[in-house]
Amino acid sequence: MSTLLLTHPVFLEHAPPDGHPERPDRLRAVNKILEHESFDGLIREEAPRGDPEDVVRAHPADYLHMLEQSVPDSGLEPLDPDTWMGPKSLEAAMHAVGAGTRAVDAVMNLEVSNAFCAVRPPGHHAETSRAMGFCLFNSVAIAAHYAVETYGADRVAVVDFDVHHGNGTQEIFWGDPDLFYGSTHQMPLFPGSGEVSETGEGNIFNAPLRAGDDGERFREAMRSRILPSLNAFEPDLLIISAGFDAHHKDPLASLELTEEDFVWATLNLMDIAARHCDGRVVSMLEGGYDLQGLASSAAVHIQALMRGSGDREAPELEDVD
Ligand SMILES: [Zn+2]
Repeated sequence: MSTLLLTHPVFLEHAPPDGHPERPDRLRAVNKILEHESFDGLIREEAPRGDPEDVVRAHPADYLHMLEQSVPDSGLEPLDPDTWMGPKSLEAAMHAVGAGTRAVDAVMNLEVSNAFCAVRPPGHHAETSRAMGFCLFNSVAIAAHYAVETYGADRVAVVDFDVHHGNGTQEIFWGDPDLFYGSTHQMPLFPGSGEVSETGEGNIFNAPLRAGDDGERFREAMRSRILPSLNAFEPDLLIISAGFDAHHKDPLASLELTEEDFVWATLNLMDIAARHCDGRVVSMLEGGYDLQGLASSAAVHIQALMRGSGDREAPELEDVD
């Protein structure tokens, strides 16, 4: 059993305007660090194009059609002040969807222990009918619905440690007690949601942090609010919205997390998945805007997935810096 890595060259062709933080170099930095020999044990696949039938598990068909009609032949079209559509942006977003559903197939069928999807654009800000915050489709929400509807999963959890609140995932999951959303995030910060009092049907668990909070505060929030509620939920599949913009070097936020904090969170989430769902974890890249902080954090997160997957060839953490 091992760890699956899904990515696709089209993710580099979604190119927002110059100076935009959510840029192709982000994924180039992740791809480059994953060339290190310590990642030779990964099973690597190209992410397939997502099926429109899967997109509409979380978004109405009208929304998909609106985005299809927004694709420019050249140049860039704004969908909101932060979110841009270029000629290849929809293709990239469709392959991000396909990465998520392929990863669900692989872990539900026990082909692999767990999977990481190195994708762009991110997805957790996309609401049912609204692109925002660099996101077109909510890939984790689509993957969760896909697992329920294709594999009969009774309960699917998304845990989101991106520094921004995943308002889109919360909104899509809001009324469904079989879907769990747990998030640590900086507040106040974009998008403005994520208060502890936002609880949906008792299936939403927000643990906001303050600017300047470090790994200790992050771990305390995970230990006191996210991990116990996730454990009580007993998921059949755990999906991670893996954003690395809570890293201390990130230019878009002000938390002080280190690589070790991402490893700690990953291993604790994997422990709960091992207890309830044979370790089935699908992790999808969300944010992370300092190239070095993003690459090193994604690297140790993936190494933790590999170590926990029972792959004895997987490296120790200090092998990559
Ligand atoms: Zn973010």
